[in-house]
Amino acid sequence: MYKELCSLRFKNGELDDLRTRLLADLNHEQFAILLGKTEDAGGIKIVTVREVIYPSKCDIEESSIVSLRINRTFVAETLHQINERLDVDTYIEVHTHPFSTDNTALSGIDDIDERRFSDYIAKEWPGIEYASVVLSQNMYDARLWRCGRKCYIEAAIKTQLTCEAI
Ligand SMILES: [Zn+2]
Repeated sequence: MYKELCSLRFKNGELDDLRTRLLADLNHEQFAILLGKTEDAGGIKIVTVREVIYPSKCDIEESSIVSLRINRTFVAETLHQINERLDVDTYIEVHTHPFSTDNTALSGIDDIDERRFSDYIAKEWPGIEYASVVLSQNMYDARLWRCGRKCYIEAAIKTQLTCEAI
């Protein structure tokens, strides 16, 4: 069967900065929102990261070593911003699993939360794409959700230096 591909592209250094900043605290899960643009290049979805938004303390309602709850107002305001802008159309949620070194240990709760959020996006923000990234101390998992279809495409992260290769 035809397998869809997705490439999530960062500017050189941007992913390292994100990792360094979010994983500085290994006692709490942390998050950031990336604003991106998704394009279809011959069947391959290319998501280019245009901006990184780090939350302030009040945007996190609850955070422990194994859980995280983001303030809903912050999420809604960010989605609204994407909707208003022409240069971005993709909401990319990044969160850490600081308890895990190699495997990202993407959890069943993450799956349920993300699927629910992808349904919400399909319903309330139909022009917006949704992707997610989980960072463990050394690895990542990234996906582009097919909003409203309860499934996703696995994404490979590329930085600008290697962006010629898919
Ligand atoms: Zn998680």
